[in-house]
Amino acid sequence: MLGRKKKSEFSGEEVIAEFERLTLDAAAVQRETLRRILDENAAVEYLQRLGLAGRTDADAFRACVPLATHGDLEPYIGRVADGDTSPVLTAKPITSISLSSGTTQGKRKYLPFNDDLFKLTMLVYRTSFAFRNRAFPVDDGKALQFVYGSRPFTTKGGLTATTATTNLYRNEEYKAAVRDIQLPCCSPEEVIFGPDFAESLYCHLLCGLLFAAEVRTVFAMFGHNLALAFETLEQVWQELCHDIRRGVPSPARVADPAVRRAVSALLAPNPALADEVARRCAGLTNWYGVIPALWPNAKYVHTIVTGSMEHYVRKLRHYAGGLPLVAMDYGASEGMVGANVEPEMPPESATFTVLPNIAYFEFIPLKTSDGGDACPVTSYAEAEPVGLTEVTVGEHYEVVMTTFAGLYRYRLGDVVKVAGFHNSTPKLKFVCRGMLTLSINVDKNSEQDVQLAVDSAAKILATAERLEVLDYTSHADVSSDPGHYVIFWELSAAEADDDVLQNCCDELDRGFVDAGYVSSRKTNAIGPLELRVLQPGTFQKVMDHYLSLGAPVNQFKMPRCVAGSNSSVLRILSSSTVKVLFSTAYG
Ligand code: AMP
Repeated sequence: MLGRKKKSEFSGEEVIAEFERLTLDAAAVQRETLRRILDENAAVEYLQRLGLAGRTDADAFRACVPLATHGDLEPYIGRVADGDTSPVLTAKPITSISLSSGTTQGKRKYLPFNDDLFKLTMLVYRTSFAFRNRAFPVDDGKALQFVYGSRPFTTKGGLTATTATTNLYRNEEYKAAVRDIQLPCCSPEEVIFGPDFAESLYCHLLCGLLFAAEVRTVFAMFGHNLALAFETLEQVWQELCHDIRRGVPSPARVADPAVRRAVSALLAPNPALADEVARRCAGLTNWYGVIPALWPNAKYVHTIVTGSMEHYVRKLRHYAGGLPLVAMDYGASEGMVGANVEPEMPPESATFTVLPNIAYFEFIPLKTSDGGDACPVTSYAEAEPVGLTEVTVGEHYEVVMTTFAGLYRYRLGDVVKVAGFHNSTPKLKFVCRGMLTLSINVDKNSEQDVQLAVDSAAKILATAERLEVLDYTSHADVSSDPGHYVIFWELSAAEADDDVLQNCCDELDRGFVDAGYVSSRKTNAIGPLELRVLQPGTFQKVMDHYLSLGAPVNQFKMPRCVAGSNSSVLRILSSSTVKVLFSTAYG
């Protein structure tokens, strides 16, 4: 086993024992973590200005340092990016900038990255690996990984700016750090860092098939990328077989010279493998179980399947056949939050256990409007944050982090629910990105509210038509009076019965249960919900659009609400609309 073989360097049981020890008195570990962060950074400009004067206790910290959003810290981070080497936010140097995904807030945020962040991220990865490998031991072999490095650029001040994952990959210690906890990727680095996403994806599939017998795990950072990979396989499997048969990558699919060279070096004419892959693909029904069919020694599929990725779980389960889907850890460009230490849990019940030594955490209590699981969106500015060990099971909170990389009382914006405790540290269920998604007047709906409405309407479609909602987004259309919600759906087949779609549209309208929405609908202050069915391939075009603007593939999250100002995406959606229905749910 991977963990066992490298015992001298990595012992899963020791990592687990250390985790158990750390979580026994999480409050004490948090106090010490805060002390270390503040002691190390006592002289930085940000804390000096706020008058902390070298104090390192939680009371002084909370009294002097206000909660901050990215907007509040942006001028400081901007100075660091522009080359200010004085201790602005951290005493130790910021070694590079991480670019957070910009698809939810319209622009990409700059965030500081340093060696501490690297080490703490690896600690979370090692912890979850120790538990994962105990539950699903993997032999030596390879990982079929759909990973994509982003091309870095240099800031005005000479710092490298790229995605947080690329910052990890680029760290000199990364290869040594992951050797014990990650199987080698089937694809060469040229593929991971290739210039074209579609080309890299094709090559990942090709290399994965070449090493099929050795593949033990299948991975992508976000579930969306994994679903896309196997949807692509459905389209290109014959070309892949052709390439394997001839021992040459298709010139139309693999054009970049470096990528071609690297992939060609792995290929040799192999008609037997090509026949085998073709036979297995042809033997599948609707691609159910394609992963175990083509990669028979794979033990599990590992990816983010929580939050906005939950939509892809059904599809991934379909591709995975009986293989377990293991939820990937919870973190952000700002820093890691929690590890999945219960890998056997299905994605719907996955939780993330906070490691109390990776940052200092606070939680802003949020009121739920209906007491249920719906994402709470009531105003929570005045609620007093509580400490890591002071949270209550069943309650919702916004995560606030103080990190070793210069973020102090930083509002991450994510909403989590406390599912329980592991020793004295909380296990968090990821609920949603905190910000409001759909709103016209007094109505407030989060990303998760949209997802719940879509899930419930999609069930009608699945039952009546055996069709799936492949992807979706929403828009608050205020161009006419009254404004109304528009839901965009791409379905697994172009044709669907009009009556069934009308039922879905009504169910979507009823699915928004927020009191502000329901009352506005009843008084027609919000008009009937509009369901737009899109041409196949529309969301691929939306993704291509974001990628063309520089959005990183690895971090890409389909926006669940498109703002009115985002005219290019609205144009793609409108020009691809094949059917329009209006709800009759409110008479
Ligand atoms: P980025 O800003 O690109 O680093 O993305 C970080 C964000 O992705 C987090 O703040 C979450 O909203 C989301 N995210 C990260 N990990 C998970 C997870 N395991 N489940 C759900 N959402 C996640």
